[in-house]
Formats: sequence, C-alpha cells, structure tokens
Amino acid sequence: MTAIAPGQTIGILGDGQLGRMMALAAAEMGYKTHIFGQDRHGPASQVCTKMTVADYTDKNALEKFARSVSAVTLEFENIPTETLDFLEPLVPVRPGKKVLEIAQDRHIEKSFINSLGVPTAPFANVESLAELREAVERIGTPSVLKTRKFGYDGKGQFKITSATQIDEAWNGIGELPAILEGFVAFELEISILVARGIGGEIEAYTPVENRHKNHILDVSLAPANILTSVAEHATKLAKKIAEQLDLVGLIAVEMFVTHDGDVLVNEIAPRPHNSGHWTIEACLTSQFKLSIRAAAGLKLGSAEHHSNAVMRNLIGDDINHWQDILSHPEMSLHLYGKAEAREGRKMGHVTRLFPLGTAPKVSSSLRPAAREIENLSRNEIRFI
Ligand code: AMP
Repeated sequence: MTAIAPGQTIGILGDGQLGRMMALAAAEMGYKTHIFGQDRHGPASQVCTKMTVADYTDKNALEKFARSVSAVTLEFENIPTETLDFLEPLVPVRPGKKVLEIAQDRHIEKSFINSLGVPTAPFANVESLAELREAVERIGTPSVLKTRKFGYDGKGQFKITSATQIDEAWNGIGELPAILEGFVAFELEISILVARGIGGEIEAYTPVENRHKNHILDVSLAPANILTSVAEHATKLAKKIAEQLDLVGLIAVEMFVTHDGDVLVNEIAPRPHNSGHWTIEACLTSQFKLSIRAAAGLKLGSAEHHSNAVMRNLIGDDINHWQDILSHPEMSLHLYGKAEAREGRKMGHVTRLFPLGTAPKVSSSLRPAAREIENLSRNEIRFI
C-alpha cells in the first residue's frame, strides 16, 4: 500500500474537537481535510478544507465523500458499522470496521480483551431484569451496570451498591442491553495511547494519570506517578491490544491500577483521546499527528515526550477565564470554537509543561511520596 502524499485529502468522520485537532495536524503536514459530520458550525468544520453535512447512513453523500478523499479516519467511535461497510470498498478506512465493532460494544470489547489474556474487571452480559438479578448474585456489589453501547463520560451507567437497587438500576439505564461490572477499588486511573502504522510498527506514549470530576476528565498528569514496572506492564498490555486488533491508527487504552499494582483494562477508544492532548506540546509527535500519519500510511514518528505535562480541561463556564489563563505565559490555551458553553461541555483545555526532571521519583511503594507534578497541578494550574 503506497503512502498518501501531502497535498491529498484525508477524510474524517466526526466534527468535534478531536476532528478539529486532527484536521489542524493534517494541515501542518500539508494535507487537506474533508469532514463528514452533522454540525456545519462545529469545531472541526471551522478548520477543514471541505465539509459534508449528512447522516452517517446517507449513501449518496458517503459515496461523494469517499471519492473526494484518499483515506478516511475518524474522531468518534459510534459511527454505524454500515457506514464503514459502505466506505471500505471505496477507500482505505483507518482504523477499520473490526476495531470499531469491538470498541463500540462493551461486552464484545471486554470479551476480546480477556481473550488476549489481558485482565478487566469481572463482568456479565445483561439483557433482562432476570439476567441482572443473576449477574448481581454472581458478581456482587458494589458493581456498575453499563449500557453496552453509546456510553461516554459516565452516561448510561448506574452504580449498584445493594441488591435492593436492581430495579432502579435497570430502569435507570433505559432497560437496554448492558454489562454488569465488578466495581474496582482502584488507586488511580491511567491511559496509554498507542499508534500502529500500516507496516505494523508501534509507538506508545508514556502512561498518564487521569482524574475525573462529575464523570468528565478534569486533569491528566503526564507521566502517571506509578512504578516503572507497572508502567512497563501496562504499556505491554496496551501494545498487545493494538497488535491483536490489527490496528492501523491510534487507540487510547483506559486502565485501572489497583492498590497492589495490578492493571485492569477498562475500555478502548479507537481515536485520539482527551487524555492525550498534552502530547501536542510535550511530545516529539502529537497524538493527532500520529493518528494522521497512520491513516495516511506514513512512518509514524516518535511518541517520546521531551517534557512532563499537566493538562486541564475547560468545561462549561471555565471558558470564561480565558483571559486570566492568557496572563499566565507558561500555559498553552486551546479553545475549540464552540459557540455555547453548556454545563459539562468540553470547551477547550490548558497544558502546562514541566521539565523531565520534575518527574515523580519512583520509590518502592506504588504511589511514591514525591508528588511534584500533582502538587503543581493543584497549586499552579488551578487558575480558576
Ligand atoms: P467508562 O465509561 O467505562 O469509562 O467509565 C467512566 C468512569 O467510571 C471511569 O473512568 C471510572 O472512573 C468509573 N468506572 C467505570 N467502571 C468502573 C468500575 N468497574 N469500577 C470502578 N470505577 C469504574
């Protein structure tokens, strides 16, 4: 397969902030971009070469889109698989249907991960109230009921702390096909972004720690404050998943690290990820560039970080502080061009770099006492 040369057009399914940053990365490398999405004024539409506004099942629009691009990638995993069935005979789609089918459905995803010998929380498939009762008996409480499809930022989830909540939980998730998962009393959440090129070469970014507020990512700390042995093990698992998916593209693997240093995979996102925004400033090649390079069939480039970093999301009204942030020259501000700052909406993010020397020193315990980055994140990126 020949590489797609700069000057050609990369198609991107989805029009949000990830698509915007992918289109910007593509432009830096001389590519044009064609966004296929639903929001004419969305974040990606403002920076692309061409936009098609149509439903993902509109075959006429999809065919024109496919004919206008040299490869297709995506910024959003909930693209109907029929869309990919239609596109794949016409144009290379990277990552392709197999990866999406696995990542779209929590039951298929976790079964696939376990089939590789990679651990997850214990889980059970639930398609009825009776199956939920059985699953709660088997897995116990606390546990989390999650819809198999279309969940994000904690949506479509219900934490069950007692068997008396079974009816409420089933009702709460809309009586949709689901999985029940054992609740993991984790020490911290991490994610690892892995890119895989068309020739099978793999690049992984250093693991980052992710902290959430109201189920939405608040801060990512890069690198995560974990033992080197835990980081190496987690990276091995993430690379194995990318390989076994036959990935051409980029995935984020979200994981829980337990108090004992065990690593359990929570989920896979087959696209650039919010926890990888720090890579724009801190790495030799950003996650957006790696995803575009993989989609274009190019050599990937290095995921190495030259700095440590803290990334904080600007959610909803946080955006009103944009001028305060600009008065801190050490902070890099990214805004997504969204017109309205609704509650819980990701409006932008801020990254602050730190020298590699400020990396947390790893001692014998899982969470070493030296938490320099953490303190910096608390005290110095708390500008709001
Ligand atoms: P998810 O949509 O699966 O990424 O879940 C969103 C967030 O809910 C995760 O980032 C965790 O903070 C929490 N969570 C999800 N599943 C579990 C679990 N099995 N045990 C503990 N916390 C969980």
